[in-house]
Amino acid sequence: MSLGRSMATVAYLIAAVLFIFSLGGLSHQESARRGNVFGMIGMFLAIVATVFGYVSGGYPTMLLAIVPAMVIGAVLAARVPMTGMPELVAMLHSFVGIAAVLVGISSYITPGIHVDPDQQLVHLIEIFVGVFIGAVTFTGSILAFLKLRGSVSGKPLTLPGRHLLNLAAIIVCVLLGIWFCTADHYPGGMLPLLIMTLIACLLGVHMVAAIGGADMPVVVSMLNSYSGWAAAAAGFMLQNHLLIVTGALVGSSGAILSYIMCAAMNRSFISVILGGFGTGGGSSASAAVEGTVTEFSVADTVDLLRESNSVVIVPGYGMAVAQAQHSLADVVSLLRAEGKQVRFAIHPVAGRLPGHMNVLLAEANVPYDIVLEMDEINDDLPDTDAILVIGANDIVNPAALEDPGSPIAGMPVIEVWRAGTVVVMKRGMATGYAGVDNPLFYKDNTRMLFGDAKTNVDAIRQGLQG
Ligand code: NDP
Repeated sequence: MSLGRSMATVAYLIAAVLFIFSLGGLSHQESARRGNVFGMIGMFLAIVATVFGYVSGGYPTMLLAIVPAMVIGAVLAARVPMTGMPELVAMLHSFVGIAAVLVGISSYITPGIHVDPDQQLVHLIEIFVGVFIGAVTFTGSILAFLKLRGSVSGKPLTLPGRHLLNLAAIIVCVLLGIWFCTADHYPGGMLPLLIMTLIACLLGVHMVAAIGGADMPVVVSMLNSYSGWAAAAAGFMLQNHLLIVTGALVGSSGAILSYIMCAAMNRSFISVILGGFGTGGGSSASAAVEGTVTEFSVADTVDLLRESNSVVIVPGYGMAVAQAQHSLADVVSLLRAEGKQVRFAIHPVAGRLPGHMNVLLAEANVPYDIVLEMDEINDDLPDTDAILVIGANDIVNPAALEDPGSPIAGMPVIEVWRAGTVVVMKRGMATGYAGVDNPLFYKDNTRMLFGDAKTNVDAIRQGLQG
């Protein structure tokens, strides 16, 4: 082995360890920044080691690809608002998917380059499986991107016999795989490979189209997992050990995250990864919500907060849109200075990405110890005097527990209506991400404070200071 290759192998090992530290760091808010730094150093090491240890020549062409890509990536990341992160992540997953497809096809076009002839069958299987996973990830992620962006309806597409369609597609792909592996050398297997790619692309679209509304967070983490497996498959095709390790880390951590989110949403993991198997859609029988709402003013809200000893704040996507977290942190400080107990209740799918609310509250320097998970605080709500729901909707919707026909039926929610008084702060009566009406707004102990969340929180802060 050349010196350059040996150094690259050592760099790969260090990068792999840094990636593991990175994942470890990302599991806690306090260490998340450090985790990101580990990940960035690991990736830098990996790129340098690959470019100088495994590639000889062609550097100008490589620079032509790498430099614009780095600039585009940096500009996009700097510009994207926090609320647009899931779309960006979905788009990035699609890049991994298409990369696996292209690596697979090019690896087939240049047979025998990466492996010795004895391992040809294994190599062909790697190519076929890699292209399959890549194609599913590619189109699934593009559709997820469009759904998250609102360009495509978030409602689940429930075609009759959709599970049979998925099964038939997989069986046809297996048969095509046999054809591919037993065909004469290149280009004999090109036709089954391309037909399979097309079917896998359709399968990716169909699987994500079948999942909708409030289940989208699980889809995003599931595609994250798929993108990891696609990268690992590309690693096998290129005989690149770091890519295999990194892909497996992303694939397995994404699968664990999907499992955790399914448990939090009371959904079956298998049903979601198979494209909504057994979810039943539910939307058709959803009960219509009627009643009168009671409006509240900023002054009423200030009075309520002054009279309350215990206050719980439930932030949602609207807080992120309004960027109300800094003003809210000031309101919390003012209330705590008056000796009141103030806590946050965080739903696992609040906002538009896992941990969205935690990140915003950390950014506003809200102490970690008053930020509680839904399960930790739900039982305390009947003893709470006042609840402020700020730009949240689906995550506080009682229909999830009370209406079996609702698309969000069975999803655990923060049971705010069990508290003394609930103030819901939003701009109007619009539905949330899942498109479901919310009976909370019509309950006797609910007060609606209409308007932009930041404007109203600022006004409440002034009221408390005055
Ligand atoms: P929702 O999307 O259910 O509701 C947000 C509410 O905020 C809207 O009803 C809107 O009402 C209000 N709002 C918007 N802008 C403002 C503003 N400037 N000021 C005040 N209010 C505002 O959010 P939740 O956090 O309750 O629930 C998250 C939903 O997103 C769930 O369905 C979840 O499944 C889904 N999701 C979550 C992901 C994740 O990983 N966390 C990823 C993808 C989807 P109005 O227009 O009347 O103001």
